[in-house]
Amino acid sequence: MSLETHSDRDRSFALASRALDLIRDYGPSAAPRAYAVWYAYVSAEMPLLGDAVKRLTIQNGCLTEADIDDLHETYLDGRRLASAADTISTVVLSEIAAVTEILDLSLGSAAQYGESLRGLTQDLAQSPPSGARLGEIVATLAVTTREVAVNNRVLEARMRETRSEIETLREKLEATRLESLTDALTGLSNRKQFEASLKAAIEEARLRAGSMSLIILDIDFFKRFNDLYGHLTGDQVLRLVAIVMREQAGKTAQLARFGGEEFGIVLPGVDRAAARHLAETLRASVMGRELVKRSTGESLGKVTVSLGVAVLRQGDTPASLMERADLCMFAAKRGGRNRTVDDTVEALTQVA
Ligand code: GH3
Ligand code: MG
Ligand code: MG
Repeated sequence: MSLETHSDRDRSFALASRALDLIRDYGPSAAPRAYAVWYAYVSAEMPLLGDAVKRLTIQNGCLTEADIDDLHETYLDGRRLASAADTISTVVLSEIAAVTEILDLSLGSAAQYGESLRGLTQDLAQSPPSGARLGEIVATLAVTTREVAVNNRVLEARMRETRSEIETLREKLEATRLESLTDALTGLSNRKQFEASLKAAIEEARLRAGSMSLIILDIDFFKRFNDLYGHLTGDQVLRLVAIVMREQAGKTAQLARFGGEEFGIVLPGVDRAAARHLAETLRASVMGRELVKRSTGESLGKVTVSLGVAVLRQGDTPASLMERADLCMFAAKRGGRNRTVDDTVEALTQVA
């Protein structure tokens, strides 16, 4: 065993033991998924998972089974997609095998045709053919040519079929890719896509030496709402917030729900004033909607949201920008909720 693998092994035991300590303190169990999340956390190899775990434990004091499910699906679970991709590649491979077989057959018949032609040419070279012999040669050529034409037609039909099957597979693959980036409840981007958008927007802002902002929005007292009216009605509120976001944010804004009742908006090319303006418009629009239970017509009152706005600074990483927006959002909660706080010192100290 090399020194390196020896220390890798030691490190893995040290990480496992640290992960178990944290599981005991912060839950929910040492079941494989929870263990995988905590192990990934202590290994510090996934900073965004690290941030999410920190945020949840600071917020709630522990991780619940639902948190573990979310974290596992968002950061660790590539399996569902991998299995869809596996199915698709199996079908593609069998299509390729079928086409190859047909091509082999067709090459075989072309070779046979060439062989017949060569034989006939030799016959003709050896002795000048009689009229009857010429007739035979022409008849043979006609038969062989017909066979080749039939084969070509079969091949063409099969190729057309294959092409349409490959087109269907391409569409399925694209749908699976989109699904893996979308939040099923609201149709907005999920956390994975959000993180990619955030990273890309930061890089682009740097290249253009332009601005970019990030808004984090969290529904106020949502637990109470769920407890009062049920989870399904709560889901309708999540959809409503998504609708308001779609209505109010510009075309270039990238909208996401990244688990629970927290939303993010990446705003390429948007400065502080415009980001704050959008945040306030969203807050007012959500608050302005009277919620009515569709089935009974019962009024459920209104919900409010708290928003944090962070503007890209020099040296920011996606994680540091997120952290600042999060801090602002929590400052808005502390300041009494139903408000927007941005990452200027004045705004943060006003609510401190
Ligand atoms: P705060 O104002 O401090 O944000 O209070 P809160 O109750 O909104 O915050 P907390 O984080 O304590 O509760 C979040 C709640 O969001 C817990 C859970 O009931 C609810 N929730 C999380 N995900 C979903 C979801 O997908 N659907 C529904 N209906 N509720 C969810
Ligand atoms: Mg909330
Ligand atoms: Mg929350």
